[in-house]
Amino acid sequence: MTKNRFWEFKNYINGQWIDSFGKETMNNYCPGDGELVSTVAKSGEEDVNQAVKYAKEALEQSDWSYDPRLRSDALNEWARVIKENHEEASAILSLESGKPISEARMEVSNAINYLKYNAGAIKTLYGRSNSIDRNTLSIMSREPVGVVGAILPWNYPVTLFMRDAIPALAAGNTLVFKPASQTSASNMVLIKYLHETELMPKGVINGITGQGRVIGDRLINHPDIDMITFTGSSETGKNIMKVCADTMKKVSLELGGKSPNIVFADADIDKAIPYIIKAAFSNAGQLCTLGSRLILENSIAEMFLDRLVKEVESLKIGHGIEEDTQLGPVISEKQMNKIMGYIEEGKEDSWLLTGGFRLNVGDYAKGYFIAPTLLLNPPIKSKVVQEEIFGPVLAIQTFDTEEEAIELANCTDFGLASGVWTQDISKAMRVSRKIKAGTCWINCYNKLFPEAETGGFKSSGIGRAAGLEGILKYTEIKHICIDYLQG
Ligand code: NAP
Repeated sequence: MTKNRFWEFKNYINGQWIDSFGKETMNNYCPGDGELVSTVAKSGEEDVNQAVKYAKEALEQSDWSYDPRLRSDALNEWARVIKENHEEASAILSLESGKPISEARMEVSNAINYLKYNAGAIKTLYGRSNSIDRNTLSIMSREPVGVVGAILPWNYPVTLFMRDAIPALAAGNTLVFKPASQTSASNMVLIKYLHETELMPKGVINGITGQGRVIGDRLINHPDIDMITFTGSSETGKNIMKVCADTMKKVSLELGGKSPNIVFADADIDKAIPYIIKAAFSNAGQLCTLGSRLILENSIAEMFLDRLVKEVESLKIGHGIEEDTQLGPVISEKQMNKIMGYIEEGKEDSWLLTGGFRLNVGDYAKGYFIAPTLLLNPPIKSKVVQEEIFGPVLAIQTFDTEEEAIELANCTDFGLASGVWTQDISKAMRVSRKIKAGTCWINCYNKLFPEAETGGFKSSGIGRAAGLEGILKYTEIKHICIDYLQG
């Protein structure tokens, strides 16, 4: 484990570390103990303008867009250097976000895998050709969209940077990215590793830190940005889509969720329970694909919930940087208060099976800790069923028939992910086809792979991340038509 507990970063523009125009900075504090973790540039509109200018120059003047081998080599080298610095990258992530160090390490490993996938996939990103008549050849070539602006979230900043934004680079675009304020250093340290490789031409990637409503807003309005890729809340995503219409930018939106895990009576309960717990309480419940609703068949509810409560109550809650922590703090005081508001409302019209309170004495006094909370049978229209809480709260709904289970699964505006637990494969397939969500895991949960697309139906987003679609969305198709008939 690295001994360092403080990091400092400037903006990274045109291959150089530079102060923001206003020379302002902002601090990030650990949600587990309130200690200062990082200081980064607090940028303004001028910084965005400068970054976009260099990104545009790099697009037009460097070989990046034309040379997939260069792109593949640069991304592979980057992956290698991140791996060499795995512990440092994990420590910053754990300290900035509060997540358990074991989860931070896994996140960095996943990020490396996404990077390597992109480095490999880009070598076979072929277009198509077709001969429509005797004298013509049509070439459908894939070209980069242009300058892409990426706005990142704080909950999985490292993996989602690689999953959602870096495919834009793989496809030959140039990039200006903005990390979430709370986890800026977790992203900027990755740029430090990239800088060491000296393989990426200047201006191809530019990272600027600062507030979303200032620099995020400038990115989505900037006339020289051709596409915005955004990962964050549905509320901000909807606003981004509206603003992007004015300059006709392409958008990719990876947004929120309220994902159901349906457990039928014939499920393998021993396998299901640990998955349900991880699905609901990983990263203190701050996960887009969180299995935040358990939809449980009535005939096994009592037995299942007895076991679930015991397991949930045995989770080790603690500071993220401690090796044995299973549940860390939530990201901020504001988030904690918001979650507690949902819990208080939930207690009024559902059964509180466990949790429902803050931990704020002794080792927990300086952090934002909430006990993992189980709420049984909240009304279908209640906020704890309909809204994304983004905290360690599991809403449990019960059912008697398959139709009822499907109806409950689809009862919210979200459609990001889902899980189905049964040993009857016909039932599993029937149900998975009827759930309106971008992913359905059968007898597992949260198995996200660089090779497999992920994304949302309904209010959970537009477009797909990862897999081939995650790269192709960053391309335009151009039809080049050759007529070789001679005069
Ligand atoms: P958020 O509040 O929407 O913020 C996301 C990003 O948008 C941050 O970088 C933020 O900057 C920026 N931003 C805020 N206001 C903006 C504005 N007016 N214009 C442009 N940018 C703006 O979301 P979050 O709280 O960080 O992340 C949690 C949400 O993300 C949850 O809803 C979760 O489900 C969703 N999420 C979805 C996926 C997925 O794959 N579908 C993955 C991860 C997270 P500041 O930090 O500076 O405010």
